[in-house]
Amino acid sequence: MNLVLFGPPGSGKGTQSQRLVESYSLSHISTGDALREAIRKRTPLGLQAQAIIARGELVSDALVTSLLREKIAPLRENTDSFLFDGYPRTVPQAATLAEICDEFRLQPPATLNLHVPDELLIRRLTGRRICPSCGEVFNIYFKPSTLAGVCDVCAGPLVKRVDDDPETTRERLRIYHDQSSPVLDYYAERGVLYTIDANGTTDEVFEKIRSVIEEHY
Ligand SMILES: [Zn+2]
Repeated sequence: MNLVLFGPPGSGKGTQSQRLVESYSLSHISTGDALREAIRKRTPLGLQAQAIIARGELVSDALVTSLLREKIAPLRENTDSFLFDGYPRTVPQAATLAEICDEFRLQPPATLNLHVPDELLIRRLTGRRICPSCGEVFNIYFKPSTLAGVCDVCAGPLVKRVDDDPETTRERLRIYHDQSSPVLDYYAERGVLYTIDANGTTDEVFEKIRSVIEEHY
């Protein structure tokens, strides 16, 4: 079973991908992580990427594709089940992923799309308050601390992340929708797009994901 997971910032994609990986023994392929790992290990591709990033340029699709192949090849000896996270971001990348699956004799991926209304995402993201001392996360709308601005766990002051302000959040969501909709259309046209209503608790959303998977695999 191969899956591509889509979800806007604030949709809980990170948590759900972790649960999917654990429940279905999937190998988690995040191109962002693969890139950072290659740079840290100073592999030939990592060094190439580092030079490009240092020049302030974007890493090419061709390089990301090579990274993807490099990541899948050793895992493929033991598994045929992958979860792709953060890839594909464009239609050409989706076509490349189809080729890679073919090449590694993997089932073409099904796409799970976590849907949450934008207004709710904005409250989830802008309402977030974090305790820098103990790491506890609160939300002024959904999980407020007992005393405003004070951590319930360690009584430290709560802070807001700079990129969680309403303007930046709206812009992040706009970019996300602009980028993802052609790729979602690509998978919809192939009959393998499953949109999941992700407005609920982590457990509720995971149950919905599970029933979609069980129905189709
Ligand atoms: Zn705290």
